[in-house]
Amino acid sequence: VIDPSVHASRLDALAMRLEPDEVAAITPGAGLRYLTGYDALPLERLTCLVVTATDRWLVVPRLEEPAAHASAVGSLGVVILPWDETDDPIDLIAGRIGSPPRLWIDDTMVAAKVLAFRDAFPSSTLALAGTHLDALRAVKSAAECEALREAGRAIDEVHARMGEWLRAGRTEREVGRDIADAILAAGHERVDFVIVASGPNGASPHHEVSDRVIEAGDPVVVDIGGTMPSGYCSDCTRTYAVGTPDDEFLAAYAALQSAQAAAVDAARPGMTGEALDQVARAILTDAGLGDVFIHRTGHGIGLSTHEEPYIVAGNVDPLAAGNAFSIEPGFYVAGRWGARIEDIVLLHDDGAESVNHQTHDLVIL
Ligand code: ZN
Ligand code: ZN
Repeated sequence: VIDPSVHASRLDALAMRLEPDEVAAITPGAGLRYLTGYDALPLERLTCLVVTATDRWLVVPRLEEPAAHASAVGSLGVVILPWDETDDPIDLIAGRIGSPPRLWIDDTMVAAKVLAFRDAFPSSTLALAGTHLDALRAVKSAAECEALREAGRAIDEVHARMGEWLRAGRTEREVGRDIADAILAAGHERVDFVIVASGPNGASPHHEVSDRVIEAGDPVVVDIGGTMPSGYCSDCTRTYAVGTPDDEFLAAYAALQSAQAAAVDAARPGMTGEALDQVARAILTDAGLGDVFIHRTGHGIGLSTHEEPYIVAGNVDPLAAGNAFSIEPGFYVAGRWGARIEDIVLLHDDGAESVNHQTHDLVIL
């Protein structure tokens, strides 16, 4: 449980980044939860936290008012302004803020609301609130690191049980259902995704599940994650083999294991996301797998599964102590197979701490 003073200081940190006349409009999602602790429903009716340099209030539909009061936002000194079914909530906001030169809108605000804001504030420049919020969210506090460790332990428990479910003769969907149940049983509040990609399906990094029957000799990529009651997310991939796979696969897997370990070992504050991506990529390229490592090495994680910082070519921002991100190189050979190893790491001054501890060796079931 995060102390209300933490949310208050996050609101202050956002407000301090705004120019005196500027306004930030934050709608339900990870940003609102980060700032206030309020895990609001993303409804068609507008819920919006309005932050200025000196002021903060929350516009909520009347029927959501009890939920807002019951959440952490109720103890933050944020004024809750309910609107009635026939009111226009954006008019209500405009009546209070006039026309700011710049309106920072939530990165995940849906298009219908963005356009309504644009129409209601024709002389304001709309910009992404993530410009400010992402930088704050990317550096985790000690309590957030602990929440991510807890999420890591929970998803590790699920991987540890894979031998109960994953075997030849079952479909990916059947295995996926068992995994989803186990994600909840391990303490997650919500299952975010379950990828069980067997044999040739492993070549599609975001394959979910299908009715394919798993066969003896198949490598199987299992990438799973959920959201804990704290709001923090887990995300962990292991590659299994149902029976002994091909030698060619085993050789490629050995290179993948080296690439993942080398990137974890190399990660330091001050290094760019691009440079860290290159550590894993160079090893896979040397092994002849550069062309089939078709995605970035990793992504930040916290209250959302994908957030800053991204471990990718072109990201020349330095990583910082407190960043939390995945290191998840993979290889994907169309028509044949794929593999990925993914841990979430917390970056400290002296290097990266993995929150996932299941073996990186290919587990043969
Ligand atoms: Zn990931
Ligand atoms: Zn993943």
